[in-house]
Amino acid sequence: MRPLSPYSVLISSSLICWMAGMLAGCGGQQADVDSAPLLAFGRSAVEAKPPLTAEESLAEQFELYIDSVAWTTEYGEVRSGQSLSHILTPFGVSNSTLHHIATEHRDLFDVRRMRQGKAWWLFRTAQDSIARQFVYGIDDREYVVFELTGEKSARRGRYPSETRRSYVQGEVMGSLYQSLEDAGHTTTLAYAMSSVYAWTIDFSRIQPGDQFRIVYERDWVNEKPAGLPRIVASEFMHRGRNFPAFAFDQGEGMDYFDETGASLRKAFLKAPVSFSRISSRFNKRRFHPVLKKVKAHLGTDYAAPRGTEIVAVGDGVVTKASYTKGNGKYVKIRHNGTYTTQYLHMSRRNVKEGQAVRQGDVIGYVGSTGLATGPHVCFRFWKHGQQVDHLKEDFPPSTPIKEESEGPFQAACRVLLAEMAQYDSDDGPRLAALDQ
Ligand SMILES: [Zn+2]
Repeated sequence: MRPLSPYSVLISSSLICWMAGMLAGCGGQQADVDSAPLLAFGRSAVEAKPPLTAEESLAEQFELYIDSVAWTTEYGEVRSGQSLSHILTPFGVSNSTLHHIATEHRDLFDVRRMRQGKAWWLFRTAQDSIARQFVYGIDDREYVVFELTGEKSARRGRYPSETRRSYVQGEVMGSLYQSLEDAGHTTTLAYAMSSVYAWTIDFSRIQPGDQFRIVYERDWVNEKPAGLPRIVASEFMHRGRNFPAFAFDQGEGMDYFDETGASLRKAFLKAPVSFSRISSRFNKRRFHPVLKKVKAHLGTDYAAPRGTEIVAVGDGVVTKASYTKGNGKYVKIRHNGTYTTQYLHMSRRNVKEGQAVRQGDVIGYVGSTGLATGPHVCFRFWKHGQQVDHLKEDFPPSTPIKEESEGPFQAACRVLLAEMAQYDSDDGPRLAALDQ
């Protein structure tokens, strides 16, 4: 990875339209290669229609079946204190029609829920000026159509939406939020990132110099983004350590995985040492074998031969790699805003303060430094600043990529990495999960 000057914001971004096939097998959003962009070519090749008038394209947008007679359209925004009758009465809509809309279609849309600032459209036949259809824009995505003549039916519809794919990369200067804003991308992406990495990176503690690259999708409606962005793939270089995330659906809904197929929503490892036995449990009233008195044991002891590897039970940042008379050589890891773990009595520490670690990294070796009768690791677990018995905690389920999904998952990862690699340049951060 290229060294970056610390005070330059290196951000290049681009907006690329949804490309069919790019995400095949990924994130549960199977692109239908046969129908997506190809159809547009087919259509224009078959018949060259005259361009639509403004009225016609609006009518098409709301799926109104307007015949060849001429139409006029009124457009407005609901003003403060304005009700349906304020809007429609001036156009000759009768009280009985207004009453019909307000009562018969209340389940479909309650017109008392019309809000200031929302858009409405009224379609009238040009020849007789009779108001035929009233359309109210409920939100970014949905509208309701009231037929004002004939059967006076009503229906709700959704604006056509388009998924666009975007890429952003950069270096954290103040906060991720700020960096995204500076790059001209939605700051809601920062929340999406903190949710993808909730078990991996503590976003309240990210620091200047951390780097990121994100491929994400967002729905666009009427040339405006609608709803929240969805992260498709990302890499986050935190304290010199790369944390990749790939969206993938293996039949249980969208989830995020690292390059090895481990779930990012990872539970902690059950124990910091393998092939160990619990020699002393978490116990608020324990007779201490060295101090010879009752003293709370706010940890779980795992006895193992001296020199056995001690691993981080989850991703996080080393906040302490230190020594005290009681703890001996110890390491403390902050995992996220909620959880912190500590590992005592090491013969040797293998990490430094401030270092990012990933689950399973060797952080030290079993010993009996400090107040210990024999080689063991005393494992301590904090939740919201309180020491708790980790064996009694309920953690969210975490399913890795299953064996049968491994091939498709790896294939999807390669496509996503290649997509991100397209944006590699000499001026930008170069991160590559699989280069390690
Ligand atoms: Zn202990």
